[in-house]
Order: sequence, then structure tokens, then C-alpha cells
Amino acid sequence: MAYGEKPKVKWIREEELRTERFLMSDNRYNREPAKRKKQVSRKELVLFTRIKAVFCMFLFAVAVVVCVKVVQGVTQSDAITTAPPTPDAVGNKGDAAQAGVPADPPKETQTTTQPPEDSDSSKEEQPDKKDTDSGVTKNGYKIEVKDGITYVDGIVIANKSYPLPKDYNPGMNEDAQAAFDKLAADAYNDGIYLFICSGYRSYDMQTELYNGYVADWGKKKADTFSARPGYSEHQTGYAMDINDASDAFIGTPEANWLEKHCTDYGFIIRYKKDKESITGYKYEPWHLRYLGVKLAKKVEKSGLCLEEYFGIDSAYAEDTGKTKN
Ligand SMILES: [Zn+2]
Repeated sequence: MAYGEKPKVKWIREEELRTERFLMSDNRYNREPAKRKKQVSRKELVLFTRIKAVFCMFLFAVAVVVCVKVVQGVTQSDAITTAPPTPDAVGNKGDAAQAGVPADPPKETQTTTQPPEDSDSSKEEQPDKKDTDSGVTKNGYKIEVKDGITYVDGIVIANKSYPLPKDYNPGMNEDAQAAFDKLAADAYNDGIYLFICSGYRSYDMQTELYNGYVADWGKKKADTFSARPGYSEHQTGYAMDINDASDAFIGTPEANWLEKHCTDYGFIIRYKKDKESITGYKYEPWHLRYLGVKLAKKVEKSGLCLEEYFGIDSAYAEDTGKTKN
């Protein structure tokens, strides 16, 4: 950039002007022509100013990087004891969720290997293991948190106590979709037309939806039928709403058919009647959760909702005033 051209950074320009004023007010500059040759030229001074500016910016950037590293080091050691998932293992998330940890409910297919353990070995070399947390639920089921995703007995869980990371975007689960397709085909043969009116929803989609409900109904009411962003089971890729996600669906032949047959295809009605205080949601006969046939039948037979079955909670930490685990 030639001198006189307007620099992009305002304060560099100000620095230049100061330099210019200094040169103009320098008496020696006018009085002693002999020294003029030794005087640094204006162009050189401007160049020097810019180099100085760039160097300062570089130093600042280095300082920022060092600070961030130090802070990360501190929170990492803290995270093991206090904070549950931190947004650190962003890079591993996709892999762990898609390859290593299918979190696939259908237990029938998981005969010899435990998927959560598998991905552990591949992550062994990596230094940050703080995102892995484990324990057991009230009913003795293994509970694990990997990359911010909670698995109970290998099943991915999303409710008011167990959120998903903002950038967890698995899309609709293929097994769940295939199971629904079969269910819909069989229902059709019984004269029942079923379709998915809302399947997989990303964090951003849920944000829009939830904010819309809050605007219309207020937060308290919205919380009874819509999940806050990051807390929706739809973000797992294992949940779907059928035909009409409204009370108008209750008691229809379609709702009755679903209730009677959905476990045969690996689904449960997730938010059951009279379980509102446990699930945190009102009765939603249109909302299916895919668990695989074996587990779906077990849960259904128990007469319990999924939270009761596993022995886990579903309540926003903000509302209960306590942090989970
Ligand atoms: Zn739903």
C-alpha cells in the first residue's frame, strides 16, 4: 500500500498522522540541512509504524493463545470432579456417535460387543477423556456420558435432565426409519394411514419451534409439551411424531392402532398418560421412541415410562435448582 492511501486499521492511520505531525514540528528538520540526510524518511517511519503495529498484534495473539491454553488446562482438571460434559471433544463427536457408539437400541444385534467400550479403545490415546463419565442409575443400569451424550444401558437418552450437545446432528436413525416404514405398511393393510409429521429435528430447528411456542403460550406452558433446545428426543434421531402432534390425535383409530402395535416394531409411546410428573411432558400418543423390539416390549410390559424403567430423572436443573449428577 502506497503512502497516502487510507490504511484499513484506523489506529494505524492515527499513528501515521502523529508521526507526520512530529516530523513537521521537528525544528532540526528545518534548521539543520546537514542532518537531513541522516533523518529517517517519512516513508521509512510509516513503514516502521506498520511493522510495529503488526508485531504488537502478533504479540497480543500469542498472549491470547497462551491464556486460552492455561484456562483449558485448569478447567480440564476441574471437569473430572465437577462439570459434566464440556464442549471440548467436538472433534470426536461425530465419530463416536456414528461409528463407535451407535447407541442403537436394538439389543438383539449387539450380541458380543458392547459398543460404548469399543469406542473407548480408539480414544485411549487421546488425552482428553474428561467427557467420559460413568455410573449406574437408581435401577442399576449403566449410565455413561460420552462427548456430552448420555447413554443408559447403551441407549441414548434425551430428556429434561439429559441434554444433547448443540452440534449433535445424527439425522434420522436408519433402523428407526426402517421400522416405521414396516409399521406404516402393515397399518395401511389394516386400513390405517400413518405418516411421520415430524422426525429428526436439529438443535436449531428445535430452537425455532420452542421459541415459537414460548411466544404463543409462555415458557411454563411450552415446557409441558415442547422441549427446550438440546433437550428434545427428536434430536436423537430415534423419535418421531405421527400424523398429528396435537390432542386431536388422542382416541383416533390411528392412535389406537399405534398404541396396540407399536412395540411389535420396536417403538414405545414415550409420553404416557398419567406419567407427566415423571417424563415432564403431557400425554402424547403421537410421539414414538424407537428402542428396538426387545427393549420396547420389556418397557411396555413393565407398564412404566422410560424414566421409571431405567431409574432416571427428567427435570430441568434450572427448575429444580440443582445440577445433575
Ligand atoms: Zn415429538
